[in-house]
Amino acid sequence: MGYVKHKGYIFGPVPSRRLGRSLGVDLVPFKTCTFDCIYCQLGHTTNKTIERREWVPLREVLDELRSKLTLKPDYITLAGSGEPTLYSRIGDLMDEIRLMTDIPVAVITNGSLLWKDEVRRQLRHANVVIPSLDAGDEMLFRTINRPHPAITYEWLLDGLSAFRQEFRGKYWLEVFLLDGYTAIDGEVRKIAKKAQEIQADLVQLNTCVRPATEDYARPVPWRRLVELADIFTPAAEVVVDYRSGAPQSESTSGPTDILQMLQRRPCTAEDIAAGLRMDPATVRKEIERLLQEGVIEARKVDPKRTHYVARDLLCAHPRKPAK
Ligand code: SF4
Repeated sequence: MGYVKHKGYIFGPVPSRRLGRSLGVDLVPFKTCTFDCIYCQLGHTTNKTIERREWVPLREVLDELRSKLTLKPDYITLAGSGEPTLYSRIGDLMDEIRLMTDIPVAVITNGSLLWKDEVRRQLRHANVVIPSLDAGDEMLFRTINRPHPAITYEWLLDGLSAFRQEFRGKYWLEVFLLDGYTAIDGEVRKIAKKAQEIQADLVQLNTCVRPATEDYARPVPWRRLVELADIFTPAAEVVVDYRSGAPQSESTSGPTDILQMLQRRPCTAEDIAAGLRMDPATVRKEIERLLQEGVIEARKVDPKRTHYVARDLLCAHPRKPAK
């Protein structure tokens, strides 16, 4: 079969508040997704699809993963630059990972294909599944997630509930709130009601702390998220990832790993140092060099923090200039 050209399947480890040092596995070509979320940190979806296929060769993914296990991540996380459940061999992949290592496997998914029996069957192989629910009704679902036309809000909810009945692993529902859209008591109440029906193990609130696809997708202040968390029963957890990295000494990572990380998502220097276990001073030096070479660019989301992003990511998915 003809595979889509790919620039490497494994990235990180990246620091994750929920998953520690998470080694990412990217199973679809850049921005192949069932959604085109206004808050996506990767830019617009270029291939909005519900077609499941072996987008990248399973054997190559496994070979690359095997070579990165020496980095000793806390989790192997199937996520990356699109929707991982579009990968038709995701179940086979997890079976093979089990034969290779005891490191637990997490899947970060938008949950949009869980109404399909085959997807639920395959995801049962994971240790942790983290799906999303960002809206309390069809209209806001379409406004925020901009799904493929074949996906309805009702199907999304049905899939999220059906999987709960079948999955014995950890099931954490992520709710990504946006200022002016869903960070409103009435809207959060609607989401909380649906979340209760889904019966995830816990609900986690998040918001955008990295540059979003649309400039109008704005973050919710921390204090407001904490207030909104109490609307859920039991109360939701706030999991916004503002972490900074501690100095690390045993890293074998270098500029290529930094660039690969920045080709997946915008990161701060602290994100890079923590994820790759690199000395922060070395990271800053490499960032300077990559900036001078013009392969990455600096972006400000708030005055206190600078994110860096690879230029080829920006070229493939140009963003409107920041206001
Ligand atoms: S945020 Fe996730 S689900 Fe939404 S468009 Fe981006 S990759 Fe797809």
